[in-house]
Amino acid sequence: MLNSNTYSTPLNLGLLRPDEVARAAVEAYERGAVSLASAEGFVRQVIGWREFIRGVYWKLMPGLRTANLLEAHRPLPDFFWNPEATDLQCLREAVGSVRETAYTHHINRLMIIGNYATMTGLDPRAVSHWFWAAFADAYEWVELPNVVGMALFGTDAFTTRPYLASAAYVKRMSGLSAKGRGPVAAKNEGPCARCRFDPDQRTGPDACPLNALYWNFLDQHRARLERNVRMRPIVRGLDRYSADELAAIRRTARDHVNGLRSTTDWAFDEDAG
Ligand SMILES: Cc1cc2nc3c(=O)[nH]c(=O)nc-3n(C[C@H](O)[C@H](O)[C@H](O)COP(=O)(O)OP(=O)(O)OC[C@H]3O[C@@H](n4cnc5c(N)ncnc54)[C@H](O)[C@@H]3O)c2cc1C
Repeated sequence: MLNSNTYSTPLNLGLLRPDEVARAAVEAYERGAVSLASAEGFVRQVIGWREFIRGVYWKLMPGLRTANLLEAHRPLPDFFWNPEATDLQCLREAVGSVRETAYTHHINRLMIIGNYATMTGLDPRAVSHWFWAAFADAYEWVELPNVVGMALFGTDAFTTRPYLASAAYVKRMSGLSAKGRGPVAAKNEGPCARCRFDPDQRTGPDACPLNALYWNFLDQHRARLERNVRMRPIVRGLDRYSADELAAIRRTARDHVNGLRSTTDWAFDEDAG
């Protein structure tokens, strides 16, 4: 069942209009029912981002379907359809929520699933096919720019840098429940607390793979990312590692991606949607 506070599906189906929900949010603020920050954030997402994305889609099609700025070609791993196949608890819970409800909230889409896909070099088109097939609110005009442009940095036409996160971010943000809003869990109650990997270790078999994947991604794409003023200071964080530490980071990341099994038993027809 979808979270009852979820608006994307009825909005995308045309059952709700963007101006209607934006006005309702403003009225709720004026009645004192919600805070200014909540009302402003909601209106900004609906008018400022959702409607902008719609324009982006029409401007960038048809090339957006095959955009692949980072030349990422790894096929979709099997755990996207079978979440028990990954040991990463954050991914298992986010993908599990999609399997159960055809929904997971924005941070899971962007910073758990999208982040992992970017850092492991998954093919943006394959990831887009999964999002399109698996989510109740997926329509190509909104799914494709969010997945290929925003989450996987398959194009720099409307985003300036990739969204990347190591385990520290995931641990900090772990309070969000996989199915959407809801009480923020107390510290140490998120997926990291239930995971077999240690978010505080960078390399080795017990380290959360997100740490090595993060630094390995920066290392692999250093030349491109250093040209970006917002990424430059982050990329230069690599310089604090010795040659041995960097070799261990590369090895841990390589071992992780080499352990992925790809899905071979499904195909997606974009023109059939
Ligand atoms: C990788 C990825 C894939 C996504 N795929 C889709 C998709 O297929 N369909 C879809 O409708 N949204 C998609 N989004 C955007 C966003 O995650 C969902 O709109 C949101 O999670 C829906 O839940 P909600 O209604 O509870 O949103 P809230 O968090 O309550 O946001 C309110 C409304 O703002 C709008 N909104 C917020 N963020 C975005 C955004 N980035 N782009 C467009 N509209 C936004 C939506 O209409 C949403 O209903 C995707 C985001 C990412 C990062």
